Amino acid sequence: TEVKSKNFIEKIIDEDLANGTYKKVVTRFPPEPNGYLHIGHAKSILLNYGLAKEYGGDFHLRFDDTNAKKENTEYVESIIKDVEWLGAKYVGGVRYASNYFDQMYELAVKLIKKGKAYVDDLTADEIREYRGTLTEPGKNSPYRDRSIEENLDLFERMKNDEFKDGEKVLRAKIDMASPNINMRDPIIYRVAHVTHHNTGDKWCIYPMYDFAHPIEDAIEGVTHSICTLEFEDHRPLYNWVVTETEFPNPPKQIEFSKLYLTNVVTGKRYIKKLVEERIVDGWDDPRLVTIAALRRRGFTPESLKMFMDMTSVTKSQSSADYAMLEYCIRDDLKPKAPRLMAVLDPIKLVIDNYPEGQVEYLDAPNNVENEALGSRKIPFEKELYIERDDFMVNPPKKYYRFFVGNEVRLMNAYFVTCTGYETDENGNVTVIHGTYDPETKSGSGFNARKVKGTIHWVAAHHSKKVTVRLYEQLVDEEKGVYNEDGSVNINPNSLTVIDNAYIEENIKDYKPGDAFQFVRKGFFNIDPKDSTEDTPIFNRIASMKSSFKL
Ligand code: ATP
Ligand code: MG
Ligand code: MG
Repeated sequence: TEVKSKNFIEKIIDEDLANGTYKKVVTRFPPEPNGYLHIGHAKSILLNYGLAKEYGGDFHLRFDDTNAKKENTEYVESIIKDVEWLGAKYVGGVRYASNYFDQMYELAVKLIKKGKAYVDDLTADEIREYRGTLTEPGKNSPYRDRSIEENLDLFERMKNDEFKDGEKVLRAKIDMASPNINMRDPIIYRVAHVTHHNTGDKWCIYPMYDFAHPIEDAIEGVTHSICTLEFEDHRPLYNWVVTETEFPNPPKQIEFSKLYLTNVVTGKRYIKKLVEERIVDGWDDPRLVTIAALRRRGFTPESLKMFMDMTSVTKSQSSADYAMLEYCIRDDLKPKAPRLMAVLDPIKLVIDNYPEGQVEYLDAPNNVENEALGSRKIPFEKELYIERDDFMVNPPKKYYRFFVGNEVRLMNAYFVTCTGYETDENGNVTVIHGTYDPETKSGSGFNARKVKGTIHWVAAHHSKKVTVRLYEQLVDEEKGVYNEDGSVNINPNSLTVIDNAYIEENIKDYKPGDAFQFVRKGFFNIDPKDSTEDTPIFNRIASMKSSFKL
């Protein structure tokens, strides 16, 4: 058996448990409800949940809903659904940072009383100016040395709605000369007259992320607060907050690098833009990599889990290939999904020596790699549909499918020899003719001769006409993701809708979301949003071809 080497976070946890820093591991996923989750968030969810599970600890789901402006309940609901769909079991129900506003306020008061926070009257612009630069230290605000009493009074009046937005802020009193700009007296509370999705109009002051987040973690007893690399230089502030607010056994922040997919739009902000500009059809457009879109497209939680296991947890920036994601869904669905024949670009094949009006039912296994899925009967008749590109008038060398004079195997049926074809006035092929050999029936043990080509087909009068959607990358990969002006390079062929595809008619008892393998054509699922009971619409999840190898 394979021994998986531990990632750097597991090594930190091992050490913390060994030396008694923590007794039980508690992790969390802290989304801001300002958009739908994407594949990068899935990485964070499965990492945090996976660690809690591995160490027998707890995993929390907590909304980081301290920035009232951009948040709403549609996002909250979608996020809960996505986390649950991924199978990440959170302990203690859904948590909200906004439920800790009272405690946060009290802790801010505590800082003021310790002389560690002050109310500042400088404007936002002045604060920025006083902050200094990477090469220049900042300057103290003239309000920095207000007395504790004055600060307590002003902060309470901020809370009591005596000031306008931006008129006053509460700042941590740390060090305006710190080489780390985040430590130059960061703002920890601001006045903001906004209605909050959870607390309504109770508050007109809201805590800033860098103050709120460590407190949320500490209140919940989180031990390992895992975030992405852009927060690395906020870690001293994280530590300052949990130390000065005097939490016993405070949590520890650990950063890892974000998951990126090459030539795929992953940032929430960018996805939101595509949605708002209607370049895509909502947050769950199957071309996106939001979790909702991946689910709708037909990706499974198992395939995403496999993908996350294949992309490492490190501190170095890297980008994974979309092809790897396709590899994972193929691997998951190959044994699970029933296989059936579907013709996406139909042309008629007439078996001239097959009796008119006769229909016979042939046995076909539902999945040659998984006998447990059983078998089905498929109708065969004189007129069939095959794929247009399974016939050529002038075939190149090594083309083993239909051309006049060639014999081909019709999957699960008979050998058929192509005898001719018809064309329209423009010379386009409209019908193909052939003759079948009854001796060659599939399953009969016939082995007197072999053929090199095997193609799929459906019975022309015993098949179901359906709509199939084929997808390509949303981004034009040749040009890269973004144009100079920040807009996305959209691939004009990212969606192809085929409304005259034919599938076996006996596809029965299907439910929206069900996945199938259309032999030779790829993995498809029934779009859970646009399909109706008798008109399934299929999304191609991934083609059979793979550009990714393990
Ligand atoms: P985006 O960067 O797409 O705007 P975000 O970081 O603003 O996302 P949050 O809701 O704040 O979104 O993130 C919740 C958690 O998910 C955070 O801990 C964040 O670090 C993590 N996360 C976000 N994007 C990725 C990613 N690409 N890879 C791994 N983790 C991520
Ligand atoms: Mg964020
Ligand atoms: Mg962000």
